[in-house]
Amino acid sequence: MIIILKPGTARSEADEILGQIESAGLKPLYMPGTERTVLGAIGDERKLAGLHIENHPIVDRIAPVLTPYKLVSREIHPSDTHVDIGGVLVGAGRFTVIAGPCAVEGLGQMLATARAVKDAGAHCLRGGAYKPRSSPYSFQGLGEQGLQILRDVALQVGLPAVTEVIETGDVPLVEGYAAAFQVGARNMQNFRLLKALGRSGKPVILKRGMSATVEDLLLAAEYIVSEGNPRVVLCERGIRTFEKATRNTLDLNAIPYIKEHSHLPVIVDPSHGTGVRNYVGPMAKAAVACGADGLMIEVHHDPKSALSDGHQSLDPDQFARFMNELRPFVEAAGREL
Ligand code: PEP
Ligand code: MN
Repeated sequence: MIIILKPGTARSEADEILGQIESAGLKPLYMPGTERTVLGAIGDERKLAGLHIENHPIVDRIAPVLTPYKLVSREIHPSDTHVDIGGVLVGAGRFTVIAGPCAVEGLGQMLATARAVKDAGAHCLRGGAYKPRSSPYSFQGLGEQGLQILRDVALQVGLPAVTEVIETGDVPLVEGYAAAFQVGARNMQNFRLLKALGRSGKPVILKRGMSATVEDLLLAAEYIVSEGNPRVVLCERGIRTFEKATRNTLDLNAIPYIKEHSHLPVIVDPSHGTGVRNYVGPMAKAAVACGADGLMIEVHHDPKSALSDGHQSLDPDQFARFMNELRPFVEAAGREL
């Protein structure tokens, strides 16, 4: 439920209502706006009925939040949320490019790739130390050693590091090494992991599950935010459809939909979305045009030797060209690269 207060209401007056909401067992929210202050009451709305908040002199009107997700909904929070990843603001009119290899394979590979993406203008460095692979025989990642390499290289080149966490028990370890967590498509509905991340202090890049609806994605984000961590960036990375020509079908419809219904920033991963190196550029430009706040791009210093996802990774020259070609599209969209 949202409670719209009359113009000019002081915080002290709102506090009385917030106290009533809390004592009814609901989560109170205080959302000051430029014209009006809005309060939120999250939880079982039947508990609110007995309070008769609508009769309070400072209340203009109350309205239910009709979406199943609440805290991530634009109804509750009309202005855009900006998420700070190690000093890089995602949202806020900026266009953020997160680039790097699928997996951390070693110091030399990471350093060469990180230098290339930094030189080309990427804002954050990616690299998986824990790889949730479809086959148990595929490279599973270097684990903590990979985290150490990622952290050292990120520090050396001066980019915040983003890496995937696949288990609840690994959250404190990964938090110590990375500027932001990534939750992969295969874990989007690992609710215990989402809750653990909701109790952590670092941002979370939440990738859409390959068979998840946009509503499922927003509800997964709600798990993180409702545990107390509002720093969530959504990531469209393609879904499974009947189409087999490409690895996944990049659902760009999701971007304007999410922008309309949620205040969270949303980025697009055309590398996994297409699975084809040559389609990464065109779909990245399309992502800019449909309102994405950034991109996640797989880059490898030598894609043919990559231990995972080499076929969809750009090499350093291709990535530099990619960034140069992207720039006019980002500017045309009224954003800064
Ligand atoms: C990845 O980013 O390398 C990855 C495994 O992506 P996804 O979870 O989207 O498949
Ligand atoms: Mn990958």
